[in-house]
Amino acid sequence: MKAAVVRDNCDGYFDVKDVQLRDLKAGEALVKMEYCGLCHTDLHVAAGDFGKVPGRITGHEGIGRVVKVAPGVTSVKLGDRVSIAWFYSGCGHCEYCVSGNESLCRHVKNAGYSVDGAMAEYCIVKANYAVKVPENLDPVKATSVTCAGVTTYKAIKTSEIRPGQWIAIYGAGGLGNLGVQWAKNVFKAHVIAIDLNDDKLQSAKENGADIIINSAKTDPAKEIQEKTGGVQAAVVTATAPICYDQALASVKAGGKVVAVSLPKGNIDVPISKTVLDGIEIVGSLVGTRQDLAEAFQLTADGGIDPIVHTRKLSEINDIVDEMKAGKIIGRMVVDFTHGAN
Ligand SMILES: [Zn+2]
Ligand SMILES: [Zn+2]
Repeated sequence: MKAAVVRDNCDGYFDVKDVQLRDLKAGEALVKMEYCGLCHTDLHVAAGDFGKVPGRITGHEGIGRVVKVAPGVTSVKLGDRVSIAWFYSGCGHCEYCVSGNESLCRHVKNAGYSVDGAMAEYCIVKANYAVKVPENLDPVKATSVTCAGVTTYKAIKTSEIRPGQWIAIYGAGGLGNLGVQWAKNVFKAHVIAIDLNDDKLQSAKENGADIIINSAKTDPAKEIQEKTGGVQAAVVTATAPICYDQALASVKAGGKVVAVSLPKGNIDVPISKTVLDGIEIVGSLVGTRQDLAEAFQLTADGGIDPIVHTRKLSEINDIVDEMKAGKIIGRMVVDFTHGAN
């Protein structure tokens, strides 16, 4: 089968080549891929930023159908449409895995990094970890739910925002835009979007933001405090460290800051405000199988509308260049439904 693999020199690009898949082991299923999105995380893996994995099949935004199962597998059956996400599997028995925090498992495996991923004609999955995709959800859009969609859903869920409360979302790019949609459409919150880019802010407004703030022109925390008296929660998807300072200054007493983006450095936390105002700061990392199942169903029901474009496997390094140049709005998704061309 054809697959996109990390190059031997880990130069940030992929080789499309013929790969022989091994036989299924106990508990596994074989998925014939339909679509797989390419993510910035894949580019980091291809460049060796997390450690070099030459020859690894990339891809963790995969959707396909089960075509074979190992003897005894009961959690999926032939024909089921399932997903391959960055959270490929946990150990299944540690304190995190048994307490609804499996994405924190210390023995986690990641698709396209520690195990072969979904940017290929076929992918082997652990059947119990392959989250099913509702038939009424567009499989092209579903690719984005496996990654950005569930990440932002989990972040808003972690914020514990309730209907009618104010939430601020720092960064209105790929993640932030979906965050605005979840907060507005599913969690029924009042939403403030903050970014430096007017086009992205305009798009956030069209997707339901009640207030947009360009933080290049005005101090967002000051404006938020003036207009709302402080937000109940602030979710940071932007990669500028200053956004964390601004987020902390935006929340009201009893508020919560949810950290999603990973700028280098530390969060500068004012101890007195944290203590006196009872502020919580919490990290949110991708989502569990249950979070992903919820995100799929809610997307099928109209919760979010990811922007996706389909491409050919042979164009994968063109997509890499376009991503590096910041030219892409939405997600490029490789289409395997006509074979790997
Ligand atoms: Zn991703
Ligand atoms: Zn575990």
